[in-house]
Amino acid sequence: MKKVLIIGGGISGLSSALFLSKAGFTVEIIEASPKLGGRAYSFNYNNTIVDNGQHVLMECYKNTLEYIDIIGSRELFEFQDSLAINYLNNKRELSKLEIPKYFYPLNNLIGLMNFNVLNIRERLEVLKLFVKI
Ligand SMILES: Cc1cc2nc3c(=O)[nH]c(=O)nc-3n(C[C@H](O)[C@H](O)[C@H](O)COP(=O)(O)OP(=O)(O)OC[C@H]3O[C@@H](n4cnc5c(N)ncnc54)[C@H](O)[C@@H]3O)c2cc1C
Repeated sequence: MKKVLIIGGGISGLSSALFLSKAGFTVEIIEASPKLGGRAYSFNYNNTIVDNGQHVLMECYKNTLEYIDIIGSRELFEFQDSLAINYLNNKRELSKLEIPKYFYPLNNLIGLMNFNVLNIRERLEVLKLFVKI
C-alpha cells in the first residue's frame, strides 16, 4: 500500500489525510504544534470557548462540508438561513451585520447599509461598488 507523509495538521492536512486514506493510502501527519487544527482552533477564555477561525462557512465550501460530514461534526455547526454576525469592538460595543434573507443581491446592500461599523463615507463606497457591479 502506498504511503503519504503530510506536513501540517491544519484543515488542509487533516482533510488530505481523510480523503487519501479513503482512497486507500496509508497516511502519516507530522504536526509541529501540540494541537491539530492549525488556524482553525478554539481556546478557553474565562470558561468560554472562543473560536479562532473558521467563523464563516458558505454553501460553496463543498469539500469542507463533505469533510465535516465524513468526520461526523455537522451537528456541531450552526447553519443560518441568512448571514447574521455579531462584532465586538475593543470597547466591548456590539454591532451586528445582518443580511436579510430575500431580494438577493440587494439584500447584501441593505445589510451593509445598516451595518453601523461602517461610517457614512464607507457606506457610500459600498454603494458605489454595488452600482459598478
Ligand atoms: C482569526 C481567523 C479567522 C478566520 N476566519 C475564517 C472564516 O471565517 N472562514 C474561512 O473560510 N476561513 C477563515 N480563516 C482562515 C482559515 O482558518 C484558514 O484558511 C485555514 O484554517 C487554513 O488551514 P490550513 O490547513 O491550510 O493551514 P493552517 O491552519 O495554517 O495549518 C498549517 C499547519 O501546519 C503546521 N506546520 C507548519 N509548518 C510545519 C512544519 N514544517 N512541520 C510540521 N507542521 C507544520 C502548523 O503548525 C499548522 O498546524 C480564519 C483564520 C483566522 C486566523
